[in-house]
Amino acid sequence: MQSKLVYIETYGCQMNEYDSDRIRNAVGGMPVDTPEEADIVIVNTCAIRDKADQKAFSGLGKYKHLKARKPDMILGVAGCVAQLYGDRLLQKIPHLDFVLGPRAIPRLPDLISRIEQAKERPVETSYDVEELFEVEPYHREGKVTAFVSVQQGCNKKCSYCIVPYVRGDEVNRPLPEILREAENLVGKGVREITFVGQTVNSWTENGRKFGDLLRAAADIDGLERIRFTTSYPRDITKRMIDAMKDVDKVCRHIHLPVQSGSNRVLALMKRTYTREWFSDTVKRLKDAVPDLAISTDIIVGYPGETDRDFEDTMDLMREVEFESSFSFKFSPRPGTPAAGLPKEETVPDETAGARLMELQAFQKEVTLRKNVERVGKTEEVLVEGPSKHGPESVSGRTSHNRIANFKGPASLVGSVVRVRVSEGLSNSIRGELSV
Ligand code: SF4
Repeated sequence: MQSKLVYIETYGCQMNEYDSDRIRNAVGGMPVDTPEEADIVIVNTCAIRDKADQKAFSGLGKYKHLKARKPDMILGVAGCVAQLYGDRLLQKIPHLDFVLGPRAIPRLPDLISRIEQAKERPVETSYDVEELFEVEPYHREGKVTAFVSVQQGCNKKCSYCIVPYVRGDEVNRPLPEILREAENLVGKGVREITFVGQTVNSWTENGRKFGDLLRAAADIDGLERIRFTTSYPRDITKRMIDAMKDVDKVCRHIHLPVQSGSNRVLALMKRTYTREWFSDTVKRLKDAVPDLAISTDIIVGYPGETDRDFEDTMDLMREVEFESSFSFKFSPRPGTPAAGLPKEETVPDETAGARLMELQAFQKEVTLRKNVERVGKTEEVLVEGPSKHGPESVSGRTSHNRIANFKGPASLVGSVVRVRVSEGLSNSIRGELSV
């Protein structure tokens, strides 16, 4: 395909960001900064949260005038909303040229040819794509961190979640392919790889488990750091914990969504673990990696959540003291079991809002305190790029995934340097280069 100018608007999670980079490579095009310059515009959508699909519709709607001015421009929709609504999107949005589900990205070149040559408006939302992992993501020159997908889909079926319905069942990527992609990226200057999957630590292949993947990746020369997201609590195994303990390249941070501290609500959510089990897992992790930073996701106001249930969640927050948390009010996703629960179970919006505020205020305090506690310590920081906080400053992340800003030349980008922390702020730390 002749090189096209491509503009992609991305909504949602890291998996979607990763997919957008794969879409860029699948098209074989040059990325541009504005849709006005582009030959192909793709809106990569998210269906996870309330109004996410409305956002996608308005995202597509705003291209109506541009398409009228540039009729040869190709406009497509990808991602979870594309999968969910399929050809209904073509009916709803007359200026739309194609619909592409998340699993069908490798088929994009074929879709573009069908539009250009046969003037079709194709829809490709098959789950059954043999070449699932064939398209690797576009990598911007000079970027020192990158994602590598290790699995697609999810087998868990949590009652509130649309992901298994839009991304299909879990499919794990073969180890040699994962390592080859990681090695290629390191060859291009990448120093930190984040393995991504909906339940990344459930990865398995030919008897190998996630811990084996971490150990194998650590053998890649030139790779400084390994991260992974998102871990599913029930799939934390001894083999994984041992690898986190033994392999220096594995960062001392894990994102471990708990969602609720109430056993009753966890059971309603079909999360397959109890609060005690989660606490014990945190203990096992911290015993193995004492300085481990743990972040989480919480849903408040799940249908039927009582004050007592919420208090259990706050109790867990106090017990674990997560480094950070992403918290949301429950919102029903059509097509999920939780969306069909009786109306009388709904937690009033005001109550859910008050709970969310309480939880977020607590988290803010803990995050700030933990950042302040780093003052005087020396952290290893992978420098990722210039800092927004003043000239001659650079920014990077610590092993614990804290953002660190400090004075230093741009030539440090891609190096792991030692930084003495002088200030802990609400979302970052500041410091000075140390020798
Ligand atoms: S583990 Fe649960 S919340 Fe996460 S993607 Fe799978 S179904 Fe959704």
